Amino acid sequence: MDMDKLVALCRRRGFLFQSSEIYGGLNGFWDYGPLGVELKRNIKDAWWRDMVSGHNELVKPAGAPTTYEMVGLDAAIIMHPQVWKCSGHFDLFCDMMVDCKVCKGRWRADHLQSAECPQKPSKRPGEFEKCQLTEPREFNLMFKTIVGAMGGEEDAAFLRPETAQGIFVNFKNVCDSTRVKIPFGIAQVGKSFRNEITPRNFTFRSREFEQMEIEFFCHPTSSRKWYEYWRDRRMKWYTDLGLAGERLRLREHDKDELSHYSVGTADIEYAFPFLAAGEYGELEGIAHRGDFDLRSHMEGKLVKNAEGCLEVEMMEGPDGKKMPKHRGSGRDLTYRDETSNERFTPHVIEPSAGADRGTLAFLCEAYHEDQAPDDKGNMQTRTVMKFHPRIAPVKAAVFPLVKKDGMPEAAKEIYIALKRRFVTFYDEKGAVGRRYRRQDEAGTPFCITVDGQTLQDGTVTIRDRDSLEQWRVKSADVVEEVTKRVEV
Ligand code: ATP
Repeated sequence: MDMDKLVALCRRRGFLFQSSEIYGGLNGFWDYGPLGVELKRNIKDAWWRDMVSGHNELVKPAGAPTTYEMVGLDAAIIMHPQVWKCSGHFDLFCDMMVDCKVCKGRWRADHLQSAECPQKPSKRPGEFEKCQLTEPREFNLMFKTIVGAMGGEEDAAFLRPETAQGIFVNFKNVCDSTRVKIPFGIAQVGKSFRNEITPRNFTFRSREFEQMEIEFFCHPTSSRKWYEYWRDRRMKWYTDLGLAGERLRLREHDKDELSHYSVGTADIEYAFPFLAAGEYGELEGIAHRGDFDLRSHMEGKLVKNAEGCLEVEMMEGPDGKKMPKHRGSGRDLTYRDETSNERFTPHVIEPSAGADRGTLAFLCEAYHEDQAPDDKGNMQTRTVMKFHPRIAPVKAAVFPLVKKDGMPEAAKEIYIALKRRFVTFYDEKGAVGRRYRRQDEAGTPFCITVDGQTLQDGTVTIRDRDSLEQWRVKSADVVEEVTKRVEV
């Protein structure tokens, strides 16, 4: 698939625009247009419904060790600065960057293989001469801001680089205010911000993006089983929504790739068309985080000691005595099992997905070009976005064949009835073939046309976006017919 064609379609049809485009744009920031906002909202809603609101705590899902509960949360984007000190982001959330002294370009040191130096005549990715590059330097990816009108450096705070910490610091609040019992998960959807050195590949690497995260709290003895459950459950979610081809894969990290606290991590990856053959980009990471996060917020920033165990990182205080480098909250974030009376620090499994990367993958997967007849019956190439009906931005479009003989009135009646249930589009302008093409590009699964026969026998045609099949149903049955096919 040609990425340029998809990018052009996204702009032309209102899926995605560059942020502040009239001022020349701002690198790493994107706006979702009228179709894009519906698509992304449907993806987030599908996630929330499938993972949280629609989860049935009375029934054990296939592959789960036991039944479990799920609740939601919506935490603030700006949090107490100590959160990021204890989580490790303040000291460690850095990328190494290098500058090219010739072209003045700046890149992530680990992305040089695909970087293009404009000074190189061949402009082939990865072509640099060693002496042109500065030594790699650390760069913290958190956006800094100042809180309060008279604020100074001591009032510096950060825009969250992940939604997860909002969940950890509310662990006790959720336990105390609800009756959830371990094992349970807290889910959150929200914006995160990272000052990426080289935002690129459309929305894939943005500076402002949305995450859909679950922190799942369980007993340490069963955490490995829960990790395996979530890894497989999350992979299935993407395939159920149509990322079913060989472009999607689940990849377990090698031991040396794992974060310092993790005993297992898997990535769900997609072979985006802008990547080189054989390369995959991460859509979601599922990590076994042990008790790292809750302990960090109790005790202070943790590091691995010589024996490989986590302990509070110490530094020399003003009086020469050792003190914690970043103090924890001192609050008790352990959990007491009411039946066994056992007290323990729960282990955490974290499925962390990017809503924008997911949306981009669904856009790439949906893009198709095929042959379809035009108004005169001649075969023409059409562009069609084959979204799964659950995530399609518009579910149905209603057309009167011509703008007379009572057809618009009949079509509007159907439109009003459908609109109560779904995002529906009404269009009476131009040749009907052209109206179909516009809906194909928007990915609308069903088009309903009111024609001469409607006025005689009360039936309309329904056209299927993918098979191009058309069949007639009674006007009064259209809502039921479309609902049955959209709510799959
Ligand atoms: P990468 O290695 O690509 O920078 P990451 O491993 O740092 O990603 P995580 O911290 O695991 O990413 O974040 C979880 C999810 O959030 C990612 O799988 C991705 O979908 C999304 N995400 C992270 N960074 C970005 C970004 N800059 N733009 C868009 N989505 C992002």
